[in-house]
Amino acid sequence: MNADEVQNVTDYFDGIITATNPDINAIAPLQHPSGIRPTAVADWDTDYVNLVNKVQRHTMCKPETCLKKVKKSGPEKCRFDFPQKLLAVSTLCATDGKWGYTPKRNDPRVNRHNRGILQAWRANVDVSAITDKQAVINYVAKYASKGEPRSATYAEIFRTILDAGASGSDKARKSIQKLLTKSISERDISAQECMHLLMGHDLYRSSRSFVNITLKNDEWVPLTSVKTDDDSPEGQGKTILEKYKLRIPEMEGLSLFEVASKYSWSRQNWRKRAANKEAVVRVFP
Ligand SMILES: [Zn+2]
Repeated sequence: MNADEVQNVTDYFDGIITATNPDINAIAPLQHPSGIRPTAVADWDTDYVNLVNKVQRHTMCKPETCLKKVKKSGPEKCRFDFPQKLLAVSTLCATDGKWGYTPKRNDPRVNRHNRGILQAWRANVDVSAITDKQAVINYVAKYASKGEPRSATYAEIFRTILDAGASGSDKARKSIQKLLTKSISERDISAQECMHLLMGHDLYRSSRSFVNITLKNDEWVPLTSVKTDDDSPEGQGKTILEKYKLRIPEMEGLSLFEVASKYSWSRQNWRKRAANKEAVVRVFP
């Protein structure tokens, strides 16, 4: 890459990633920013300052989390490299043929982030620039092979696959594909999930009901994979179109979509849902 190209790529990453603290001397907010919904944010600039200073700074290095000995007898060092050197301008440079992007920084403890994602997510985020193919492979391999700590079987599967060995540049991809295929059939179940299954609890809960409308009147296909409550229009034998014809007078002017969203079918009759509990309507096809 020539100097202009390097600058272009650096500018591109600068627009996405930052390690800059918008206000190093900010006073701690009264309310923790994680407790504020994005819809309730009054001032986005102050909100950003609060989030960076509350959730985006790596302030404490501890042996049980990030402090590791580099050498057996040597001093302990943060494995995320904090505190980091201040940098007046972002850099993009190649070391041993590998490109690396480092955003400019004015705070040795701020973790790289994207402002938009941080303000939407409202908790710590970590954003890295992907500068070469190997980095992507390493990243995918790191997470795809991150097993349950106590699972000997999982580790063994991966070891067996690696020992069997694929060849050439496809090695990582092939190995990970095999690992994923194997781990689908031999998936670990956590203690919580195991308890849930034994107690017959649902594995998830939804604060909204879902209603399916199928417009193929003559061919009703129940979608068994979709969880619906028993009161939902399709849950009781008649199709929603048949039930739509049985509207009570107050529903006369409502469309099929409005009926599905605002009313539920219960004990052979329509009942209005609470105003803030309208159902999510899915229309097929
Ligand atoms: Zn640390």
